[in-house]
Amino acid sequence: MTASAQPSPNTRAASDLAGLQALPHTERLPVMFVGHGSPMNAIEDNDWRRTWQALGRELRQRGTQPSLILCISAHWITQGWHLTAMGQPPTIHDFGGFPQALFDQQYPAPGAPAVARAISADVHQPGGDRPLGLDEREWGLDHGTWSVLKPMFPEADIPVIQLSMDYSRPPAEHFALGRELARLRERGVLIVGSGNVVHNLRAVRRDVPNNQAYDWAIEFDRTVAEHIGAGRLASLVDFQQQGAVAQLSHPTWDHYLPLLYAAGAVHEQEAPRYFNEGFQAASISMRSVLWG
Ligand code: ZN
Repeated sequence: MTASAQPSPNTRAASDLAGLQALPHTERLPVMFVGHGSPMNAIEDNDWRRTWQALGRELRQRGTQPSLILCISAHWITQGWHLTAMGQPPTIHDFGGFPQALFDQQYPAPGAPAVARAISADVHQPGGDRPLGLDEREWGLDHGTWSVLKPMFPEADIPVIQLSMDYSRPPAEHFALGRELARLRERGVLIVGSGNVVHNLRAVRRDVPNNQAYDWAIEFDRTVAEHIGAGRLASLVDFQQQGAVAQLSHPTWDHYLPLLYAAGAVHEQEAPRYFNEGFQAASISMRSVLWG
């Protein structure tokens, strides 16, 4: 047997230690939900973005540095659930009608295929025993991910994996998958849900100043905040019980569901810390939450 036939250390780690055991134990990392709002927040110098920059600096200054960021973005909807598993995920410009400067943005954070495989081996899709799918070529980092991570971690030196959402499945399953992912927080993973607590693009009013909003938007946002503040995180699953207020706040659910992953990954007794409370364009809540 020649030396070249020896498995590399990475190969050995992935094959000898199945699943999450391959990842080192760490202190528990925080989990967050970020309201991303307009893609322009990625490059405009505004309060939302300045808060992302400050939070990134704060997290860097804490003792525990994430070895990986797992992001659940409103903008990746699939049949079943999938993890990005390419070595270098491309930056996806999944929007239209914005200035060239936004299309010029890149976020060259590496992927982590071995870690994606490890997570896939240990975390099952809700409602069955299928492992999470692995996507090696279709997706990458969409703007729900990079518009937030670029201001927060501008060095782009922490590997990023995205997890898609199966929109056809009920909210409780998204929350349950968040519960499964909670274990990753003790394996060096920073979990980030990226959506918006209120998101109705048809009702957007660009002439309305920041932090003014429709009554229904304020009501839905307040109810969500009350649940989170009281630690009633499982109640977030039942958002449709708010009827017309929920329907107006989320004509589709894609921007709400990432909150359920973040909330599902919260441990008992972890107090929420809000940031970027307020509204953009009257119908988008920017309320964001950090736990841990
Ligand atoms: Zn969005």
